[in-house]
Amino acid sequence: MEKNIDFECIEECSQCCIEREYYPSKEFGKIGVLILPEEKERMEKLAEKKGLKIKILPRIGTSKLKNSKPEKILAYQLMGTEKNGNTCPFLDTNGTDKSPHGGFPCKIYKERPLACSAYPLIESNPVTLDQKCKFCKEHGNTDQNINSEMESLLKIKEQMMPDESSIWRFATNVGEPEDEKIMKHGWILEDVS
Ligand code: SF4
Ligand code: SF4
Repeated sequence: MEKNIDFECIEECSQCCIEREYYPSKEFGKIGVLILPEEKERMEKLAEKKGLKIKILPRIGTSKLKNSKPEKILAYQLMGTEKNGNTCPFLDTNGTDKSPHGGFPCKIYKERPLACSAYPLIESNPVTLDQKCKFCKEHGNTDQNINSEMESLLKIKEQMMPDESSIWRFATNVGEPEDEKIMKHGWILEDVS
């Protein structure tokens, strides 16, 4: 019988709280941490309590008609503090404290967004782990014990199931200086054809 390996962060790693990626392409700029609509206010309050300035942009929206802008926001995103979009504002990179596995600690760990508790799970059917995560790189497709991460992801998926006809994605215009000319800003209608 194949032995399950419990998911555990790699010693001293904080990569997923630092590095942001272009998604779905450079045109859309780098994405922030996914925030559900009901989490937005809580994140803003937590930031205020910690004396942090945060920037939350919309991420996915829906509209009934193709030629109108989104009427409903399905998800927001918490942008990084660096000009190129990297580094979550809640990551404590200056203090002396460390996370349990020796990386930079999250200032709101117990109250972090659902997307952070789900990570590195990025798809639930079939189960897919983000290959950029250091743990996943080291353990490949091993059958991990990822029940809690899976549960969080399922909740996210349920929330993001659009019942309207058109889906829009917000281009952040955030990324590396050399990509400035490629990146767009604002709502772009998803091509679902
Ligand atoms: S990239 Fe993976 S191993 Fe590294 S901190 Fe994130 S979840 Fe943990
Ligand atoms: S909220 Fe915390 S866990 Fe999530 S990306 Fe930011 S620092 Fe990392």
